[in-house]
Parts: sequence; structure tokens; C-alpha cells
Amino acid sequence: MTTTLFDLPRPVGIPVKGEAATYPIGRIFCVGRNYAAHAAEMGHEVDRENPFYFTKSPAHAILTGATVPYPPGTANYHHEMELAFAMGAPVFRATREEAEAAVYAYGCALDMTRRDRQQDGKDKGRPWDMGKDVEASAVFAPMTRAAGMAPLGPRRIHLEVNGKTRQDATLSELIHDVPEIIMDLSRYYHLGPGDLIMTGTPAGVGPVVAGDVITGGIDGLDPISLTIAAAE
Ligand code: MN
Repeated sequence: MTTTLFDLPRPVGIPVKGEAATYPIGRIFCVGRNYAAHAAEMGHEVDRENPFYFTKSPAHAILTGATVPYPPGTANYHHEMELAFAMGAPVFRATREEAEAAVYAYGCALDMTRRDRQQDGKDKGRPWDMGKDVEASAVFAPMTRAAGMAPLGPRRIHLEVNGKTRQDATLSELIHDVPEIIMDLSRYYHLGPGDLIMTGTPAGVGPVVAGDVITGGIDGLDPISLTIAAAE
């Protein structure tokens, strides 16, 4: 039997309503530009045919209610309110039916972003990692199991900073809905339990500063919050 040289901290597990055990995070995939109004505010055309993705390290996941320092290496840290879902069954090249059956749970998430570093990537044709794969940048609220849940439908998705509304949209504005994301992403990955997908943010993204309190919600799901403390 082999042992490791040292122990790594385990990524947080996400609470699931009605379950004693938490959902372990294996991978985090994020969809880019999945609301037309957000693509427009970022200066891009919507590509309705080809969704695209980036990833965040599971080690960078935290739970709702946390207070985190303003991150290093940015002067433009942005909030992105998102619907996240967790996979419950393995799928590869999924059909729509398989995709619909493979979702385990839904929840609120924040895709916190160093917008200036993301813009560097766009300008210079470099990866987005410095903008997106930021420590403590993947924030998750307790999830609700898909089984027995009402259809997602046109639920409101919203985010406030210090109580003032910044993002306010409905899930019916998603360009690629949840089954479509699974159908597409499973052409590239063997998806399964442990995979979390953030589905993209609506319009209204913007900067936060030390002292800000971010709150967000999606109708029928547990809300999310994050407090930004002074930089280290
Ligand atoms: Mn996002």
C-alpha cells in the first residue's frame, strides 16, 4: 500500500437539502456568454451554435456565507451570479433524454472574476485562467435535488451588492439550457458524479470592493452570499 508524501486539503463539499452528506467536487466547468444581454455588455456577439467553457479548480471552491479578502492581481474584481448544477449519473455524448436524467441537483453560485486579467487574455490571445481560476472564486450555496423539483422554467435570477440590485433576469434567457449544455459538454468529457457546471451569468456584472456584501438568489433555491474583506 502506498502513501502520499503529504496530505492535501480536500475541496469543500456542497450541502444538499435533505441530505446528511455533502456533494464532493471533482471538476468545475463554467459556460461563457450564455445570456445575450451579458454577451452584449461584454462587447461580443452571441454564438447560439457553439457554447464554450472554462474551468475552475475544485480547490478554489468555497461555501456561501464566507468572507474572503479582495484577491491579489486585480483592480476590477467582478461578481457573476449563476445557476449551477451537479451531475448525478455518468453520460458521454448524451442525448437530451439522458442529459435531463443525469442532473442530480441545482443551486446558486458565484463565478467571481478578475475582469482585468480576463481582458488581458482576450486582448493577447492568452488563456483566461488568471481571470477566472481565482482562489475562493467559485462560491456555492446548498443545492436542491432535481428529483421532485419543479421545472426550472422562467425563474428569476438576481444579485445585489450592499442591498442594491445589480443583476436581474430570468432563467428563460439562457441561450443554452441545462440539457443542451450537458449534450454539448459530454462530446468532450465523460461527465458524471462530482462534475459541477456553472451555466453563465446574466447582464449587470460589475466590480466589488472591500467591505461589499454580495447577495444573490434564484426563485425556489437557497440564496447565496459573499462578503469581500480588505486585501491581504
Ligand atoms: Mn460566469
